[in-house]
Formats: sequence, structure tokens, C-alpha cells
Amino acid sequence: MLFDKIIFGPIQSRRLGLSLGVNLLAPTAKLCNFDCIYCECGWNATNPEGTFNDSSDVVNTLQAKLLEMKNEGNVPNTITFAGNGEPTMHPQFAEIINKTIELRNAIAPQCKISVLTNATMINRESVKVALLKVDQNILKFDSAIYETYNALNQPKHKRTVQEQIELLKQFEGQGIIQTMLLRGTTEQGTSVDNTTEEEIEAMIIALKEISPREVMLYSLDRESPTTTLNQIPHEQLVQIAKRIANSTGLTVKTT
Ligand code: SF4
Repeated sequence: MLFDKIIFGPIQSRRLGLSLGVNLLAPTAKLCNFDCIYCECGWNATNPEGTFNDSSDVVNTLQAKLLEMKNEGNVPNTITFAGNGEPTMHPQFAEIINKTIELRNAIAPQCKISVLTNATMINRESVKVALLKVDQNILKFDSAIYETYNALNQPKHKRTVQEQIELLKQFEGQGIIQTMLLRGTTEQGTSVDNTTEEEIEAMIIALKEISPREVMLYSLDRESPTTTLNQIPHEQLVQIAKRIANSTGLTVKTT
């Protein structure tokens, strides 16, 4: 499923409340430096450069929608950067965040700004500064075991899990870790299951190091490009959440 517009929603999200989505990536193809086997946007486009929505179009469309919602007495709880891929890959990501903060402050000061990101671009200074300005960074971290991380997220870069943890640590305790739990088989026939004893133990060690503000666990609830993946029952998500919370002292939620 691809978002065919810059602004989508608002949608009522269990995690975020009334969420107005912003898609910085072009409507024609997904663009991400991961290619998660469960990504609801499908697989990456064959042209890896892709295209981005024009930053002035983004800001103008967002402004118009926020004003419309304000006039209707229905301002969102959050403006959420998500959409057809990794938002921080947009070359003007930092400028767009700055403009969004200005718009939010002027039109809907109580509204939060959230970014759903895989955190891989935080080693770029402008991206880091921008991310640290927003209210909620929701950071993908699906496994602390390299083989599973590779199988689930299919990253373009060749970072180790420890290098990925170092990037996540840069959120200085303010990031929200989001972990997709699932089991099944990849299209290449590799078994994946990030709910095993070994996986949860490794995740606990990594989370202690990252020290996020919160952890969110979820499982499949939409169509994914790999059809041989299975949802984790909610009761098991709750059990895993309790175990992680007890071992780390962190707030762990399930959706
Ligand atoms: S990081 Fe997000 S957008 Fe990128 S492939 Fe994974 S799920 Fe899709």
C-alpha cells in the first residue's frame, strides 16, 4: 500500500491518538534504506534513488490541512512523519522539520510532532539536530541478533547491531523503540522468529544500553509483501512486554 498524497489522514491511532500523516516520499514507489520483509508499503523501487515530495509543497499542504482542522475544531494530537519509506532520507528533512515546528507553534501548539524512523541517518548532523527537536522519535529496532536483524530489515548498509545500537543511543533516552515481533519464513526460505528466548535476552541487553523513554511491541496487522509470516498472538506480546519491563525497568507497551 502506497500513500498517494503528501498529507494523509487524520487517522485514529491506538498509539498516537488523532494522527495527521506526512509523507515526504514520492507517491509512486517506496524508498527506504531498509527493505523490511513485513513493510506495509511493499518492496523498495528498483530505482534506488527514487524521488521526494517538494519541501515547499509539503509545508504548504500541511499548513492548509492544519488550518482546515483548526477551523473545524479538530486539531490532531500529533503530526506524524511516516509514509512511503524513510522520511529522514529527504534531502531537506531538517528544513521541513523546522517549518513544521513553526506551523505547529502557530496553529496547533498542543499538537506533538512524531517521526517514524529507522534511525539510520542520525549520523548525518542535520538529521540528528532535526530529530532531537521533535516530541516523539519512534525508532525501529527489531532484533539485537545480526542474522535476524538482516533477515527482517534487509538494511542497505553493512552496519553491525552494535553500530545500530550506538545510533539509537544518540537519542539520549528520549527515543521510543518500536519492535515488530513475528515469526515465519522469508522469501529466500530462511526461518525468522524474533520471539525466542535467545532473541528476548539479547533485546533486553540492548535495551538496557539504549535506555529509551519507552518500548512499543507490536505484530503484523496489515498485509505484508512476504506472505509466509505469522502474527504473534496478543497474549504472547503482553508476556514478552512484562518480561522486558521487569528486566529493564523500562515502560513497555503493546498495541
Ligand atoms: S524501515 Fe519502515 S519504511 Fe523502511 S522498509 Fe522498514 S517498515 Fe518499510
